[in-house]
Amino acid sequence: MAKNFYSILGVSKNANKDELKKAYRQKAIESHPDKNKGDAGAEERFKEVNEAYSTLSDDNKRKIYDTYGEDGLRAGAGGSGFSGFSSNFGASGANSFQDIFEEAFGGESIFENFFGSTTGRRGQNRGEDLKYEMRISLEQALSGSETSISISTKDLCKPCEGTGSKNKTASTCSTCGGSGRIKQMRSIFSVSSTCHACRGSGILIKDICPSCRGKRIVHARKKVDIAIPPGIEDGQSLRLTGKGHASGHNDIAGDLYILISILPHKYFIRDGNNLICRIPIQITQAVLGSSIYLKNLEGEQIKLTIPPGSQHGTSLRIKNKGMPLLQKRMRGDLLIMLHIDIPKSLSGKAKKLFLEIAEVQGESESPEPLQLNTKKRSFFNF
Ligand SMILES: [Zn+2]
Ligand SMILES: [Zn+2]
Repeated sequence: MAKNFYSILGVSKNANKDELKKAYRQKAIESHPDKNKGDAGAEERFKEVNEAYSTLSDDNKRKIYDTYGEDGLRAGAGGSGFSGFSSNFGASGANSFQDIFEEAFGGESIFENFFGSTTGRRGQNRGEDLKYEMRISLEQALSGSETSISISTKDLCKPCEGTGSKNKTASTCSTCGGSGRIKQMRSIFSVSSTCHACRGSGILIKDICPSCRGKRIVHARKKVDIAIPPGIEDGQSLRLTGKGHASGHNDIAGDLYILISILPHKYFIRDGNNLICRIPIQITQAVLGSSIYLKNLEGEQIKLTIPPGSQHGTSLRIKNKGMPLLQKRMRGDLLIMLHIDIPKSLSGKAKKLFLEIAEVQGESESPEPLQLNTKKRSFFNF
């Protein structure tokens, strides 16, 4: 449905420029995302308000909008100088919205953060993120682990403490007042560009630090302590805020992402929060039942009771001996699948006994096939 720019701003179709600006200032403040934290609709309303005002405050666009509606603007109807107009609140749209916003508020940006984060300016000033791949064992994933790694990062220069100055003194750039950007008025919009005096850093250095040559940033190896939480899963990543590359513009470092991959285990396989392993038993243990002991992933001895008549592929469940659930005081289960070892060769005595059993039990010469999907507790196909 076509949006009505006049009703978005709450003005009549005949509103003059002053009325439009007044309405815009009011609506922009009301709907500004910084003032409506947690309200997902606010950003959408804010975009609409900006879109409406950017159109109606421009005589040319307003004329086209009044005649052809919003579609006319998209199609560039009239062809008079704004073919690049975009109704999207994308990267290019955001900058022009900021200019409009600043112009309407007399050049002062009262909500610096919002535009800062959407235009990616924060992204430019912030240090880059760093990725590190870490392989851990299933045991480490089970119990959690504390370790430290050595990574190569861009770090603040130590001798000058990141000031870029030998005497650790640097003065705020007087040209831009420390912001690193200069605003210039062009027609009715203010345009900001990187300050030439300080090259955007916002500071001026007189006695340059020889270690970093005034760049404030050096390549360095850094030791980072990492705590892997119990229960972490293969493919998950840990974010260490501020442990990425340092930034030359300010002190906001990027983040460090630790990508976890879990090495396969010799005996145990993970299925969600459960652990599964296969245990071989003798045919007699399956028939008669038995008690056996086995070591779980933590190395604890666990007693397992095999009931008489256990079938091949049956899994026995030991509660709460599986993998821990992240951030919960719960654990999955340990599932032990019985693998019945059929003897491949028999001694004379054993053969005699088996023959006796066969005689007592009886053997069918034409057995019927088993129905499929009857063994629901079987995890693998045998
Ligand atoms: Zn400057
Ligand atoms: Zn330095």
